Amino acid sequence: MGALGREERRTDCPFCQIAAGERDAKIVFQDDTLVVFEDIHPHAPVHLLIVPRKHIRSINDLTEEDEGIVAAMIMRARDVAKQVSVDRSGYKLLFNVERGAGQVVFHLHMHLTGGWR
Ligand code: AMP
Ligand code: ZN
Repeated sequence: MGALGREERRTDCPFCQIAAGERDAKIVFQDDTLVVFEDIHPHAPVHLLIVPRKHIRSINDLTEEDEGIVAAMIMRARDVAKQVSVDRSGYKLLFNVERGAGQVVFHLHMHLTGGWR
C-alpha cells in the first residue's frame, strides 16, 4: 500500500474530493503530497487550508509514517505565506483537533490566516 495511494481517499470526504478535482476550490498550490486552497468561509483577509492528499481524520490519527506529511505541511505554509505576501506582515497556523475544538471537516488540515493591516 503506497503512502499516498488512491485507497487512502474517501469518496464521501469534501477534502478528498477537492484533492481529486471532483469538487471546486480555489487551489493555490498542489503537489503529490498536499493541496492548498482558499477557505470557503474566510475568517481573515487571507485564509488558506493546507491539506494532505492522504485521508487522515485529525492530529490524533497521525502515525510515525506521517511525519513527512506534517513536515511538508509546515514547510509549505512557509512558502505559501510568502507567495500570498503575508510572510512579513504575519500569519497564524492552526489545527482544530476534534469537535470540542471546532473541527468540522474530519480530514486533517491546517489553517493559515493572515493579511490583517
Ligand atoms: P475546521 O473547523 O478546522 O474543521 O475547518 C474546516 C474549514 O473548512 C472551515 O473553515 C470551512 O469554512 C472550510 N471548508 C469546508 N468546506 C469547504 C470547501 N468545500 N471548500 C473550502 N473550504 C471549506
Ligand atoms: Zn478526506
